[in-house]
Amino acid sequence: MTSRPIILWFRNDLRLKDHAALTAAVATGAPVIPVYVLDDVTPGRWTMGGASRWWLHHSLAALSEDLEARGSYLMLAGGDALKVITDLARQTGASHVYCSRAYEPFASALERGLKDELEQQDCALKRYAGALLAEPEAVLTKGGGPYKVYTPFWRALSAQLKPHAPKPAPKAIASPRRLKGMRLEDFALLPAKPDWAGGLREAWTPGEAGASERLTRFLGAAMAAYAEDRNRPDLPGTSRLSPHLHFGEISPNACVWHARTAAARRPGTDAGCETFLKELAWRDFSHHLLAYVPSLPEKPFRPGWDVFPWKKDASLLAAWRRGRTGYPIVDAGMRELWQTGVMHNRVRMIVASFLVKDLLIPWQEGEAWFWDTLVDADLANNSASWQWVAGCGADAAPYFRIFNPVSQGEKFDPDGAYVRRFVPELAQLPNAHLHAPFEAPKEVLAAARITLGRDYPLPVVDHKRARVQALAAYERVKAGTGASA
Ligand code: FAD
Repeated sequence: MTSRPIILWFRNDLRLKDHAALTAAVATGAPVIPVYVLDDVTPGRWTMGGASRWWLHHSLAALSEDLEARGSYLMLAGGDALKVITDLARQTGASHVYCSRAYEPFASALERGLKDELEQQDCALKRYAGALLAEPEAVLTKGGGPYKVYTPFWRALSAQLKPHAPKPAPKAIASPRRLKGMRLEDFALLPAKPDWAGGLREAWTPGEAGASERLTRFLGAAMAAYAEDRNRPDLPGTSRLSPHLHFGEISPNACVWHARTAAARRPGTDAGCETFLKELAWRDFSHHLLAYVPSLPEKPFRPGWDVFPWKKDASLLAAWRRGRTGYPIVDAGMRELWQTGVMHNRVRMIVASFLVKDLLIPWQEGEAWFWDTLVDADLANNSASWQWVAGCGADAAPYFRIFNPVSQGEKFDPDGAYVRRFVPELAQLPNAHLHAPFEAPKEVLAAARITLGRDYPLPVVDHKRARVQALAAYERVKAGTGASA
């Protein structure tokens, strides 16, 4: 091999199939140096949280094995990616650095900086699409900005959605002799004292193979019933692909391609397939928004929200985080999150509404907790969704629509299977009282061996009163912005 090598910089695209940058690098015939940089400098306050780190460890291990099987390897490095990649390019005399494009504000800034640095040493950065269904520049309003309302966004996106058969993984990847890098253990991504990851290990198989398996499983009965069952946390009604999509272990193009192919083969799955694509499009919607509104993770998207009278209350926040609010559906969700690293979407909306509307705690507190505990923590999806629930986001839920945690529980977990799984101390309560134990007659509680305040908390707030307070708080924003309810 005499030609100058190409550095293949892996980021949140930890896969070999349908990977445009990798396919292009291998096609040149030049030696390819695959590298992953653990960069805790560039993201600033958005360095990866604990649950994401656990996922990353296993995903890198899987990618490394897959590369070894193709005659290559994964070089690991740590530090400021700008410096690490520039140094590596200099050392190896690389002609190019190939990577997949990312959309977080710090990631885009890094790409710009890296491009300039590399050019000074006769090396070029080439970015490839693949993390989204469409690039942010490709789906714009007539005015040239990003869509702020989902439905017209979906219309514009779906009109140009042309999924292609996913590119296979390269059979072989020619790489130069091994460069000295770090060992995966040196990254120290796994929790040690205490090891809180037991539930995560049971629930997940990070890596490209795990991602394909999840999709295949979903495309059967679950997709057929997805339009109806996706709101039911007690049923296995959704794909559970979000961490795989976040880490790029599967491309959204592959999800669409396989979903449509499966729907064409299996009558009765069209509605499920369409609804699934619409959910995937929410992911694009959030990423496009973040690409144009870099302050989305920190500041309200809508003007006028700075006057909102948020409360700082450490003990209420702690009760919410630990799943001890006294509202079973909220507590089940928060405990599902802690045990498995995810939470069902419907329950995310309920717990988020409870935090911002019943407890009046700033959405940024919830966003930060999710950031640390979700295996699918994703800056675009997380910040856009929190703002959506709080009422200050794009196409947001109106502030006056306040979820009632009891009726939401009764509606979406009608047999109580979800609450019983994650709040086992309530398992003996009959369905009629499961979602509001604080209203259950004494003899019912006694028969279920529950003393409220001892075995399970009393409600930390009275929902009806909290609702009135929240509406009064909203009046302030409304007065400031001239918004109408
Ligand atoms: P499915 O129902 O199978 O949907 C398929 C895919 O579509 C998902 O994997 C996901 O990539 C995408 N998707 C679905 N719903 C949404 C949505 N509302 N917004 C953006 N993308 C969506 N999702 C994250 O990936 N990371 C986050 O950090 C995150 N934080 C959230 C915070 C709050 C307060 C709320 C209400 C939602 C959040 N979501 C987040 C969105 C959503 O809850 C998850 O994507 C979904 O629960 C993942 O489960 P699934 O893969 O089974 O979804």
